[in-house]
Amino acid sequence: MVRAVVVGGGIAGSAAGMALQAVGIEAIVLESRTAGVGRGSWLTVAPNGVAALQEIGALEAVRSIGVPTRRNVMIGATGVPLGSIGLGRPLPDGTPALSFRRPELAEALAAEARRRGVDVRHEARVAAVETTDRAAAVTLETGARLEADVVVGADGIHSLVRRAVDPHAPAARYLGLANFGGITRSTGIAAQLPAEAWTFVFGRHAFFGALPTPAGDVVWFVNEPRPVIDRTERATTTDAAWQQHLEDLAAADAGPFAELIAAGTLELVGDSTFDLPRLPTWSRGRLTLIGDAIHAPSPSSGQGASMALEDAVVLAACLSEQVEDSPAAAFAAFDNRRRRRVEKIVADGARSSSSKTAGPVARIFQDRMLRLVFRHFVTDKSQAWVHDYRARLGTARATQ
Ligand SMILES: Cc1cc2nc3c(=O)[nH]c(=O)nc-3n(C[C@H](O)[C@H](O)[C@H](O)COP(=O)(O)OP(=O)(O)OC[C@H]3O[C@@H](n4cnc5c(N)ncnc54)[C@H](O)[C@@H]3O)c2cc1C
Repeated sequence: MVRAVVVGGGIAGSAAGMALQAVGIEAIVLESRTAGVGRGSWLTVAPNGVAALQEIGALEAVRSIGVPTRRNVMIGATGVPLGSIGLGRPLPDGTPALSFRRPELAEALAAEARRRGVDVRHEARVAAVETTDRAAAVTLETGARLEADVVVGADGIHSLVRRAVDPHAPAARYLGLANFGGITRSTGIAAQLPAEAWTFVFGRHAFFGALPTPAGDVVWFVNEPRPVIDRTERATTTDAAWQQHLEDLAAADAGPFAELIAAGTLELVGDSTFDLPRLPTWSRGRLTLIGDAIHAPSPSSGQGASMALEDAVVLAACLSEQVEDSPAAAFAAFDNRRRRRVEKIVADGARSSSSKTAGPVARIFQDRMLRLVFRHFVTDKSQAWVHDYRARLGTARATQ
């Protein structure tokens, strides 16, 4: 019997495999996707998440695919500057927040885990999970069954393990935004945007973000306030039609977005934005949860991946400190160390997400309000508790 089975080989799952190995706990990571990098959006891992990568020794494995990102620069629909906020103090070695293509980061972490001898299996979809006093078990879609001392659900916002932990757990909540993303290659606009910064425009019809890369490309995204895109609309709308729609959304606003979208390639189409604000129960018997499976924030928080990485480190530390046969004490310690922080970040993320859904009229008043908010309330200082946090494996770290 293995010590731990991790369900989900996304950012949290592969990091958990490495963190558990680092404290001497053998883990198998089961991921339903096929190996390889698919289409997907970009995200920013803040210094608290970068520090968690460093804590498990995985920072060097991903550094070269990350784009240094130091600030968010906010602009109104008319071009009026609304403010600028830092993405946290860099690590002592100077590493700032890093932005990644999400699937590329997940793939690099899985590859690094495998390189270290963690058993990461792709095309391994878990269909059922159970727990008894003596063991936990997962059953794969193929019918194969694996037993373990603990099962860690790192299976994302629509988690199967969450339902096994608590069948009455609240479901993820739609935040009223559809998310689109793309990249515009070798564009002169890259040099016009602030370097190592996201430029955000609170537009009349949507919220836009753009990040120039050192290669001279610009990565961009669009958050459109709208009802969930249903199956029919998804099936009948081509990428070209979505792209035209996004260009139209940007046309009336200041900033380079209409031009960027027109010249770009779509990489994320109509991803519905969900969050998961508060899950009363994080574990049952020998099952527990990490990452988006317990506390998915709105993408507006910029903290989902960073919190998932922190979780991986803290859970491994708690399991390594466990002195009894039952993992209950370790799971309780994990809840105790993590809950206040992650629930506050998710709540703050939902608030900032709602500022993206204002209509065109509200926008005019909102610009004035946002200027005040970014001057007095959401500042480098007020965000330091988020970015300065450091997750530690503790003294039980095994030598590798
Ligand atoms: C558009 C967008 C922008 C974002 N921007 C940011 C940002 O700037 N900064 C930030 O920190 N976060 C951001 N996030 C959030 C971040 O991507 C998530 O918080 C993070 O990916 C969570 O990692 P996870 O491993 O918990 O979940 P996921 O990344 O969702 O991984 C879960 C994995 O489990 C697998 N899985 C699911 N079910 C099963 C099963 N039954 N069996 C086996 N495998 C299974 C899935 O295939 C998946 O690979 C953004 C999210 C989105 C959607």
